[in-house]
Amino acid sequence: MSLSKKIFLVSLLIITLILTGTGIWHQQQNRAIPSDANYPKLGGIPILMYHKVNPNPGTGGLGLRVPPDKFEWQMKYLKKNGYETISLVDVMDHFEKGKHLPDKPIVITFDDGYLDNYQFAYPIMQKYGFTGTIFVVSKAIGNTNFFDVEKKLQPENRIMDWNEIRELDAAGFTIGAHTVDHPHLAEVTPEVARYQIEESKRALEHGLKKPVEVFCYPYGSYNDTVAQITKEAGYRAAVTTELGLAKITSDPFKLHRIRVTGHYSNEKFIEELHKY
Ligand SMILES: [Zn+2]
Repeated sequence: MSLSKKIFLVSLLIITLILTGTGIWHQQQNRAIPSDANYPKLGGIPILMYHKVNPNPGTGGLGLRVPPDKFEWQMKYLKKNGYETISLVDVMDHFEKGKHLPDKPIVITFDDGYLDNYQFAYPIMQKYGFTGTIFVVSKAIGNTNFFDVEKKLQPENRIMDWNEIRELDAAGFTIGAHTVDHPHLAEVTPEVARYQIEESKRALEHGLKKPVEVFCYPYGSYNDTVAQITKEAGYRAAVTTELGLAKITSDPFKLHRIRVTGHYSNEKFIEELHKY
């Protein structure tokens, strides 16, 4: 066999191996995403609750941190199964005014405003055409999670600055308020609670030049008085850390969510999504 013929055959073999390998890889990628066709239609709108999306264990435990590869799998699962992201404002427009929603709506929320939401979650969500809602602690903007560091609850994490927040807003994300400095609202006086709820709205609206209509209670700490103050401050809805789906019968200022932690396997994520 001539040398050129040998080179030709070897090249052919290499090309075949590459093509076969790529084919198998694609198959595995698709096989990894199960269909949710066997589950009944959800009895409400799921509002997912995330905090950090970060690969670095130094930024905190898996209770509040979902590694980006897991997060990407979850987004891929939602995309493949036909979920479409909507905002909390859409949810309220639907419940109060009958606004039409996609067949499988979902709200993806992030508490606190970590810089890693911008660095890791945002590019992944963009890839799948998703948007989310980020609840920002107004005094922490461009700073750190001082509120958890001071209490030794979490390591120091960077919080987004105004440029990053404005970019997410421009990309269709919803920016919501999460108080000025993250207190337990049920444990402070109504006057302090009112200041925290009103001033964070004012600060975010000043920075974004648009209405801020949704709120999130830090640590899920609220009571009827706090919920009433939130309503009086001009918000349209508030989310808690209580578990469940948003339904037309839900109190708009006591909305339940579905917690997602970094401990969840892919199967557990699917289970949690269909549990309520
Ligand atoms: Zn928080």
